[in-house]
Amino acid sequence: MIHHRDHLYIGGDWLRPRTDSRIAVVSPNTEQEIGSIPEARPQDVDLAVEAARAALPGWSDTAPGERAALLRRFADAIEERAREIARTVSAQNGMPIRLSSQLEATYPTTLLRYYAAMIDSEPEDVRAGLLGGRIRVERDPIGVVAAITPWNFPQTLAAFKYAPALAAGCTVVMKPSPETALDAYLIAEAAAAGGLPAGVINIVPGGRRTGAYLVEHRGVDKVGFTGSTTAGRQIARTCGELLRPVTLELGGKSATIVLDDADLDLSVIGDELFVATLANNGQTCFLGTRVLAPRHRYEEVVDVFTAFAETLTIGDSLDPGTDIGPMVTERHRERVEGYIEKGRAEGGRVTTGGGRPDRPGWFVRPTVFADIDNAATISREEIFGPVLSIIAYDGDEDAVRIANDSGFGLGGTVWTADPERGFAVARKVRTGTFGMNRYLPDPVAPFGGVKDSGLGRELGPEGIAAYRSLKSIYC
Ligand code: NAD
Repeated sequence: MIHHRDHLYIGGDWLRPRTDSRIAVVSPNTEQEIGSIPEARPQDVDLAVEAARAALPGWSDTAPGERAALLRRFADAIEERAREIARTVSAQNGMPIRLSSQLEATYPTTLLRYYAAMIDSEPEDVRAGLLGGRIRVERDPIGVVAAITPWNFPQTLAAFKYAPALAAGCTVVMKPSPETALDAYLIAEAAAAGGLPAGVINIVPGGRRTGAYLVEHRGVDKVGFTGSTTAGRQIARTCGELLRPVTLELGGKSATIVLDDADLDLSVIGDELFVATLANNGQTCFLGTRVLAPRHRYEEVVDVFTAFAETLTIGDSLDPGTDIGPMVTERHRERVEGYIEKGRAEGGRVTTGGGRPDRPGWFVRPTVFADIDNAATISREEIFGPVLSIIAYDGDEDAVRIANDSGFGLGGTVWTADPERGFAVARKVRTGTFGMNRYLPDPVAPFGGVKDSGLGRELGPEGIAAYRSLKSIYC
């Protein structure tokens, strides 16, 4: 019997690793090692890219209806593993199990079925030419895709790439993050069980060197990346030199704009506010961690957010009662704590949190800063932890100005009783996505950022377009 966790999934086979080098994953709840998997070496990446190249002609020539049927079987096989996926993700990165059960275990199947339906019913694109004749616009698969993902939503963000790529007829080499290396083999098992042809999906676990090697590999045609802005810039440089198409979903520092007519009753807005500002222990790219409050309601907004943070249950990420789990690694907790110290040093007033709870694990208590402005380091840099800055503004125009005074442009929300006013604000904020009284990226709509938050879009029809190469045939 093959133990899948001890092998690399390449070319439809479970390959024995060439070296003893393994990636160990440590529980953020207990600080104990919970498992390890073999690390892919450069030769394994070569094999994976070769396997993806070899599988490309067959997969891209498969009729869309047949591809769609295989994607649905793949989705069914993921669904069968939903509980294990949720548990494995939460055990590694500290994501509260309620969230991983609702999102990590279900978003990939929703996406696969969405893109399967899209290619099932796609009309031909034939246009009447303005200069005579007709033009047939073909949408060819772009080729072999390198899909590189971070640890915070390892399953969902992988699916953001493989679902549209496979639907488009591309083959994929996935490089998961070392912090969450243990759940990727479940995707491989599901791909095999769902009957995806050999080489259509290959997985090369490893760190940034493995990622960089994959990005510049001669056999790769397109890079889909989610991660930090720093890594994104390096990847963009490589892809620029190679003229290799790339999609980059990077960091964020979004604004939560509370208008002066907003209903701040937590029994009404608490759940939505949580998703928009603190979901996944603050380890989410789109969170609105800059809370903009009208000056005349400033103290009230501070009180609401302070009370809100204090109602959240801190606990083991595998406990269904947990709202806030630990930070993914010890190093990351130090980074978050470093920002809290900077916030204090820059004159911010901590109204709640500001330190660790008294328990093992890499926890940080949800922390609210008042009396802080938009120029402070903690208002400008992505902290990626449960830390909110509350910033005063004077009038809607001023709120929009502060929201836009950021290097990033990924998410954001406006909280108001007046939809017209809300839309007016939404239209003026320079960002890739925005929410009114709620925020959740939906599979049907393009997701991505502007400025330092990245290039290109995932999800929706736009998401599959990023894995296609257009060809016009004049006839
Ligand atoms: P990271 O950039 O360190 O790593 C992300 C992935 O890229 C990992 O698999 C890593 O091994 C790999 N990698 C790192 N450097 C690389 C390089 N030079 N070449 C190729 N691969 C490389 O990010 P992280 O710490 O894992 O994740 C947190 C970051 O991800 C945050 O900045 C967050 O905002 C961002 N993120 C963005 C989105 C989005 O959709 N915009 C979603 C989730 C997370």
